[in-house]
Amino acid sequence: MPFAKIRKILEGCYENRKVTIRGWIYRKRKGKALIFLIIRDSSGFIQCTVKRASPAWSEAEQLTIESSLQLEGIVKPDSRAPGGYEITAHSISIIGLAELFPITKDQSEEFIRDVRHLWLRSRRMNLIMKIRANILDFTRAFFRQKGFTETTPPMFISAAVEGGSTLFNVKYFDQNLFLTQSSQLYLEILIYSLEKVYCIAPSFRAEKSRTIRHLTEYWHIEGEWPFADMTDLMSFEEALLAHICQQTAGKCGEELEELNVDISKLTAVTIPFPKISYTEAVELLLKSGSKLKWGDDFGYEEEKKLADNFRKPFFVYDYPSSIKAFYCKTYRDRPEIALSVDMLVPRIGEISTGGAREEDKEILIERIKEMGLKEQDYDWYLDLRRYGTVPHVGFGLGLERLLVWMLDLENIIDALPFPRTTRRFYP
Ligand code: ATP
Ligand code: MN
Repeated sequence: MPFAKIRKILEGCYENRKVTIRGWIYRKRKGKALIFLIIRDSSGFIQCTVKRASPAWSEAEQLTIESSLQLEGIVKPDSRAPGGYEITAHSISIIGLAELFPITKDQSEEFIRDVRHLWLRSRRMNLIMKIRANILDFTRAFFRQKGFTETTPPMFISAAVEGGSTLFNVKYFDQNLFLTQSSQLYLEILIYSLEKVYCIAPSFRAEKSRTIRHLTEYWHIEGEWPFADMTDLMSFEEALLAHICQQTAGKCGEELEELNVDISKLTAVTIPFPKISYTEAVELLLKSGSKLKWGDDFGYEEEKKLADNFRKPFFVYDYPSSIKAFYCKTYRDRPEIALSVDMLVPRIGEISTGGAREEDKEILIERIKEMGLKEQDYDWYLDLRRYGTVPHVGFGLGLERLLVWMLDLENIIDALPFPRTTRRFYP
């Protein structure tokens, strides 16, 4: 007999029929004549009852929390059971009897983080990971629909993409390499062959600050394409985000509800997004009492304050070139301004950075020198401007930051299964 998924049982597919399920004990309560078991599998939870007269009684007695088992019984509709159905068990076979499970109610955040490998079994993490997987699907579908080709850039790299301060060194045989901070430069290589390209890959940042928006390893959704300008870039990014939010609201409704997420926040994400220039953003901040000067980068506090004006995702564009990376294209008539754009959301601030890339070899060399970088480290990157250069744009969106906002997570570490931060890398 095939095994039934709990979710299918709760949907009523097996009413009054015999089923066999496999899963783990979530809860157990013993009465005189009846043992109640709540069993979970990847799809949900169901209550099972074992009568004293049943041949399954002695196994049910032995079962401990988180033991794995196979259980056979009859599905009965029962309005008192959570989910509306329960299984009257006829036979149980214990697969793996669990020792005393260390996670119980009312434990500290700290302890739960220490036993991450066990906490991942929790319903909360199960739901977040399912939504995360769906968001990856929605993202890929959107890129594909727009004619992008998925690619897989390397994680070991020989020269920095972003600033050197967040670079991880790796001993690579006799040499020193780095872990990539972004796949952008590699996507730029590939546009000369595939044109529209994207990747979903890890990026590494040696971030010492402990914030709700920084990991040392995160998943970066990056797109790059030729023959495009800033208008194309912003239209693409806003359409991608709206697509992800609408699809998630439409297809993950039950999971969102169980996580107590405000779904209306997601359905409210429609195009076009509000857009303000960096200069306008500075004026807004000055009006609300900030002490910042034109030319300063925005920190988390400034970004949060700006977001209060919009209460939904929005763009800030045309940042000063001095606070942007060497590859950012600058206005020909205003070299102090970069053709760049960040997407910001309430509570979190920046979730993506994009822009036009400098396509002129001479200006690019100037920028490399200005930033104190070595021209020879970027020789292959300069080749892209030597042989058939094209105007092009691209962006990077942090998957976990997006999830923190979409799912109202308190901390970015819950947006992925195995968070890496300054202090956490176990298991
Ligand atoms: P911030 O200044 O907020 O630390 P950044 O401007 O250095 O970020 P970018 O280089 O623009 O980051 O990276 C693109 C996107 O990758 C960011 O908008 C963000 O969504 C994500 N990201 C960057 N650093 C991290 C990190 N340490 N942890 C998680 N996501 C990150
Ligand atoms: Mn950025």
